[in-house]
Amino acid sequence: MSYNIFTRVSFENAKGLIPHMIRGISTSKSHRVDTINLRSENPQQRIKERISAIDKERPFSNFLTDRFDRQHTYLRISITERCNLRCNYCMPAEGVDLTPVHNLLSTEEIIRISQLFVSQGVNKIRLTGGEPTVRKDIVELIGELGKLKPQGLQTIAMTSNGIALKRKLPKLVENGLNSLNVSMDTLDPYKFELISRRKGLDRVLETIDQGIALGIRPMKVNCVVIRGVNDQEVLDFVELTRNKPIDMRFIEYMPFDGNKWNKKKLIPYREMLDNIKIKYPDVRKLSNDSHDTSKAFNVPGYVGRFGFITSMTDHFCGTCNRLRITADGNLKVCLFGNAEVSLRDLLRENVPDQQLLEIIGSAVKNKRKQHAGMFELAETKNRPMILIGGGRASMVNVSTKSSTYRTATAFGKVHIGRQAFELVRTNTMKKGDVLTTAQIAGIMAAKQTGNLIPLCHPLLLSHVSVDLTLDEKDNYAVKILSKVECEGKTGVEMEALTAVSIAALTVFDMCKAVGKEMIICDLKVVEKTGGKMGTKPFVVSTVLPFIVPIPSLNSEDGDCIMKSVRNTGSTLTH
Ligand code: SAM
Repeated sequence: MSYNIFTRVSFENAKGLIPHMIRGISTSKSHRVDTINLRSENPQQRIKERISAIDKERPFSNFLTDRFDRQHTYLRISITERCNLRCNYCMPAEGVDLTPVHNLLSTEEIIRISQLFVSQGVNKIRLTGGEPTVRKDIVELIGELGKLKPQGLQTIAMTSNGIALKRKLPKLVENGLNSLNVSMDTLDPYKFELISRRKGLDRVLETIDQGIALGIRPMKVNCVVIRGVNDQEVLDFVELTRNKPIDMRFIEYMPFDGNKWNKKKLIPYREMLDNIKIKYPDVRKLSNDSHDTSKAFNVPGYVGRFGFITSMTDHFCGTCNRLRITADGNLKVCLFGNAEVSLRDLLRENVPDQQLLEIIGSAVKNKRKQHAGMFELAETKNRPMILIGGGRASMVNVSTKSSTYRTATAFGKVHIGRQAFELVRTNTMKKGDVLTTAQIAGIMAAKQTGNLIPLCHPLLLSHVSVDLTLDEKDNYAVKILSKVECEGKTGVEMEALTAVSIAALTVFDMCKAVGKEMIICDLKVVEKTGGKMGTKPFVVSTVLPFIVPIPSLNSEDGDCIMKSVRNTGSTLTH
């Protein structure tokens, strides 16, 4: 990144920054930083070099690193759901139900969230919406974010439709805004009105020019290209880059609730590029930053550049470093994912930072490797873009619950057929020891539950047992019983069910070459203790003769039963 992080930070402030940052890293690493050879003569430049060296040395926050080692350094915050345009590709014609104001994030909450993320290594924050400029305190908000620059925030960006921005822009830049995206889908004032259901193209153009004059770089212009609507203007937009130092970005049209997307309206970027190359055969591909969402090009001799945001035909999940906060305070780890965690509720319950970070960390750890494909997305429910900034499942907030000793016992079985049954019983299955392998798989799986089930909390389990028994009389069944224990704020039945499921799948996998008609069945929770309910026996059907009667399944008797099960099977506990 080439942004000048000292644009708004005085030299004196910058000096104060160094010891603070060094304290944040381990001794051995700070030693290495001290010995870094700083080449520049210019003191400001040297400090910048040193900060960037320190940043490289500092281990990145585990909370913001997902299972695929993606480090999330970019936070997009929607600061309002309201908009002064009604773009038909963004908002359903009937409008959207706005969240009551008291449920939206307050300025203080936005700042608190920003501070938290910056403390963990986020170096870029983008304000979006709705339309961020309709928020009355936008200038002050950017000013508050500007104060986070000494803590490592390098880029304060905003995405705006430019309608009501021009007057505010100088003050925003003064307060720290240093990257701007203005959306402009057409150069034709009549078409502008058609798309956005409002007038105002002249104001958008003026805002772009003012951004350039104020020295905002990059000055990006977003254009959603829709077949039959504005695709004929792509070449005109490229021509705009001849004299304007803008970064023109053609966005592939994406499906959101109510925006009437269909495949025919989508123009894949390759088609756009091919058309551009007919008029401009010399276009050059430019090199990209690893996190760039845009594939950038330029026409030789033109001052600006253009590029494509290819979310639909060539997703960039592999290098995704973005997290989103919706205006009502939900953390969304993927634009196209439905899982959301309410940070607003946690903030309003005065949950301490460490706990917030753990919850954020667990959501980040649940981020999928990549989002669903184009056609699935079109079928999937997602918020309209205007409500995301671009389904609402939400994790139950357990911060105010007290920790109690909890257990859960789950059961399931696999009918494996006579031949496989014999091989398992005599431990002569070609793939190896089925019962022991399935036990280990079950125990390991229980510990992974929070990573597998989207809204499950990660729990520190104190004990997991998985017991497998063979029951020839029950149609050659392998019966699996798992008991999970923990001291925690939420129940462990999902962990017990996960343990049984994965143990059953492991049995299935190891026997499938022999047992052609295997069935996994009767997965259920058979007992749960702890929490508000105390001991809660679940109704157990006759498939489980060895664990009835239910009242005997309190923890002590349960142990006896487990032992009797263990006598006939093999046992491995964690
Ligand atoms: N009001 C601001 C604006 O117009 O730029 C910020 C919010 S708007 C939702 C953010 C960006 O999402 C805009 O650049 C807009 O063009 C883009 N967008 C909205 N709906 C889209 C869709 N269906 N496909 C692709 N991009 C979309």
